Amino acid sequence: MAGITILGSTGSIGKSTLDVLRLHPTSYEVIALTANGNGEELLLQCAEFQPRYAVLVDQDAASTIQSRLSEKSPNTELLTGAEALEFVAQLPEAEYVMAAIVGAAGLLPALAAVRAGKRLLLANKEALVMSGGLFLDEARRNGAQILPIDSEHNAVFQCMPPDYANGLSTVGVKRILLTASGGPFRTMPVEQLSGVTPEQACAHPNWAMGRKISVDSATMMNKGLEVIEACLLFNAAPERVEVMLHPQSIIHSLVEYLDGSTLAQMGNPDMRTPIAHALAWPDRIESGVAGLDLFSVGRLDFEPPDEVRFPCLALAYRAIREGGTAPAVLNAANEVAVEAFLNVRIAFTAIPEIIESVMDQMPVTKASDLDRILNADQQARSMAEQAIVNKNQMLGVSEA
Ligand code: NAD
Ligand code: MG
Repeated sequence: MAGITILGSTGSIGKSTLDVLRLHPTSYEVIALTANGNGEELLLQCAEFQPRYAVLVDQDAASTIQSRLSEKSPNTELLTGAEALEFVAQLPEAEYVMAAIVGAAGLLPALAAVRAGKRLLLANKEALVMSGGLFLDEARRNGAQILPIDSEHNAVFQCMPPDYANGLSTVGVKRILLTASGGPFRTMPVEQLSGVTPEQACAHPNWAMGRKISVDSATMMNKGLEVIEACLLFNAAPERVEVMLHPQSIIHSLVEYLDGSTLAQMGNPDMRTPIAHALAWPDRIESGVAGLDLFSVGRLDFEPPDEVRFPCLALAYRAIREGGTAPAVLNAANEVAVEAFLNVRIAFTAIPEIIESVMDQMPVTKASDLDRILNADQQARSMAEQAIVNKNQMLGVSEA
């Protein structure tokens, strides 16, 4: 039995991971489950999987479930606070760690897993985008293996030759092509984008996901973060990573070789496939996902991304080219802007404006240690918040 800790078990990726594990009860043992504030869901999961530890970051939510947890899963120790996430990420009993917390909150626990030399199943792209080379260096130094869960990167990983660590050209790879669905607003008239609601933005045509990544898909910042993620994971220069709209989300990404071959990974859009792939790698196991029926899919379409409709994509290329702390700044400003949009404080179209104004104001420095990265993250957050307040004052929007 291989032990696994799931960071963010109550989210969309966390639940899909448990769905796959349910199919393989004799191969994997759940060691720890964690959530931010959803105690009821965590309680149900603990009752079923009987982990050694459960972490609920929110202390009040933890006190609400403590007595029921002791009854339903007597051997589970309940921990609270953000530090407990780092503790369960490095437990010796867990060989695997699924990093499925959303946003920068997942960085320290994912780093703890990497420092403990785990096999890290990485869904939390923001952690890697923020800390880049530092994250990868820690993985190398401690013998941790990073397996991408993001469907595009998992697809690229499946299409890539084994020894790409020294650069794409050493293994005959010309380009990485990341596919993108284009989200819910791909064909909406651009002048209507300023009026869209959070519910419209979260209604993704092909994938059911958490709210933050759903908004990122609608702005295409998700693809921007994924370009940065691909450059880092596959040691690729930004000009070697291209984005292609593919509304059916059947091809999850492609790798083009020098000889004219292009390899693609295909499948139904269901995160249980990359999760099962990373869990079993280099073997294959059942994921619960049906095989692809290309007759019923019928056709596959492709188009280039529209830079006017999706300005976030260019901001992400700018951040990876600038390097240093720029990706951390981009990510932090995006998290604040997306949250403000979800709370109906700003328009959808203000998201890239806020991010760009923060990037313009913040000097890029070297991301040589964690303190610098966390400082840049904090500064970018305050600047983004200030930009939102200024914008609303200018527009005469009153915020209670
Ligand atoms: P989600 O919002 O559904 O779940 C997030 C999880 O993180 C929950 O368990 C929540 O309790 C926990 N969490 C949130 N804030 C926290 C905090 N401050 N401290 C500790 N825990 C916290 O999100 P999701 O859609 O599952 O996405 C998770 C990650 O996976 C994101 O980084 C996302 O970009 C990535 N991802 C998701 C999908 C998908 O299909 N959902 C696909 C690719 C990549
Ligand atoms: Mg993705």
